[in-house]
Amino acid sequence: MTQSFAPLHMVSRFAPSPTGRLHIGHGWSALMAMDMARAAGGAFRLRIEDIDGTRSRPEHVAGIIADLRWLGVEWDGAIVFQSERLDRYDAALERLRTMELLYPCFCTRADIQAQWAASVSAPHGPEGAIYPGTCRSLSETERARRIEAGDPLAWRIDMARAVARMGPLHWTALPFSPGMGPAATIAADPLAAGDVVLARKDAPASYHLSCTLDDAAMGATHVLRGHDLFAATHIHRLLQALLDLPTPAYLHHPLLLGPDGKRLAKRDGAIGLADLRAQGADPAQLAADLRAGRFPVGFSLGEA
Ligand code: GLU
Repeated sequence: MTQSFAPLHMVSRFAPSPTGRLHIGHGWSALMAMDMARAAGGAFRLRIEDIDGTRSRPEHVAGIIADLRWLGVEWDGAIVFQSERLDRYDAALERLRTMELLYPCFCTRADIQAQWAASVSAPHGPEGAIYPGTCRSLSETERARRIEAGDPLAWRIDMARAVARMGPLHWTALPFSPGMGPAATIAADPLAAGDVVLARKDAPASYHLSCTLDDAAMGATHVLRGHDLFAATHIHRLLQALLDLPTPAYLHHPLLLGPDGKRLAKRDGAIGLADLRAQGADPAQLAADLRAGRFPVGFSLGEA
């Protein structure tokens, strides 16, 4: 892929979550991120997003690393493990708390569902109904009482307040392929996502917070990832502004869809890199096919 947007030293990254093994869609994404940096004489880095206590599995970490090596994905420097960076996430949360932009939320998933059901028109964001903001209006006394009682809590960002503080923000979207036009400047719209969670009862930092902090710490100038994370970029842009972090350029590639037209998931019989390896597939041929956009019969690309 040719890129017209190349800083002096480009750094891209691939950031899998060890919630399962990788499929060919992941392999394709990793190869594109690596090739993008290599073509510009830059660096490509690997991060393992292993802090989701309920879904991350340590046994998948080694498998993912082996799958990537098998496919010929080679990264620069040490692998970054999010589980080793919890103090950074805590420090950022503390900073946002001091700025009075976070509030504790005691709602369970069931509470939120009930709140949606009871409202005439639950507000919607790009990813469905958004948190109605119930705990934002709790009194300080009530908050203190519930924290004291040890009620499990999540920390949510007061999005309206954060947006008001930072004013209008923009980010650069790079086209998936040169044929799709020049880089676009996108107005960030984090408000649409509502008061998202930045730290959870069962995870020390949400994906949004850890990813934003780590991309900056790893010096990422370019973030290439699936189109499913397009909406997340609006939130990441706001967090960068709040935490004085640099803003990478973003390239969201279409998702690879299976023969049923749905995004790939291992359980649906998607093609796993480990399965292909076990079947004796030639990794060099597979990498060449993915790079050329030659996917298995019936597979297609989704929305870009
Ligand atoms: N860990 C995320 C995932 O596997 C990707 C994060 C990112 O690329 O920003 O979906």
